[in-house]
Amino acid sequence: MSKPISLISAQVKAIIFDLDDTLYDCSGTLVLKSKKLAAKIISKAIKCSEAEALKLQLELEARLGPKADISQEIADLYNLSEEFCKEIANTINTLEVDGAMLFSDAMDSINELKRIGYKLFLVTFGNREMQEKKIKTLGLERSFDEIVITENPRGKEKCFKAILTKYDLEPEQVLCVGDKIKDEIEVGKRLGMSTALMKHGRHYNFYKSEINDGGPYAHITKVSDLLGIEEN
Ligand SMILES: [Mg+2]
Repeated sequence: MSKPISLISAQVKAIIFDLDDTLYDCSGTLVLKSKKLAAKIISKAIKCSEAEALKLQLELEARLGPKADISQEIADLYNLSEEFCKEIANTINTLEVDGAMLFSDAMDSINELKRIGYKLFLVTFGNREMQEKKIKTLGLERSFDEIVITENPRGKEKCFKAILTKYDLEPEQVLCVGDKIKDEIEVGKRLGMSTALMKHGRHYNFYKSEINDGGPYAHITKVSDLLGIEEN
């Protein structure tokens, strides 16, 4: 007889999910789309083709990491004005998110976790308007006990602490799920939460060489991994 083994320890009562690259493929869809939009502006500014402008962005990101300000790097390299960076930022903020789709198992897994009785939270970092558009497009508006958007790149710790206080949870009663080893996973660990690293996307790929597979956190490749694997 096979028996499902849950990755969620018995003391856990609540799960905090990240959004981008945890519940849907942000790197492969919206990030790529925004780089293609930026390529139009870059190609005009430095007189190259859009394909070359896209390649330049991808090369810079591969070298400097997913957190680097690529338009600023290009502005510095080519002596471009501040207007150049502003134009790219404004264009990216108009990005349509219509094509975004949840990972195929995400909605069923979220509903099952809710049915089992976990409190579920979504804590996401980014431009508020953009994150709200994504949440609506992905159909997640009513899937969580609370959705928190922070526009501060270092804002997640404060959001996690606020959830602990508001819902009267001890850190060890919370599982934190995300793709960013440097953000949600390290922050969750520091606060004393359980953590699960989603092995997906540009952040995971950039930092994975620093990740020890036997590290003190669970690794998942899809949300349904949390619910259990079949024992052989
Ligand atoms: Mg993420």
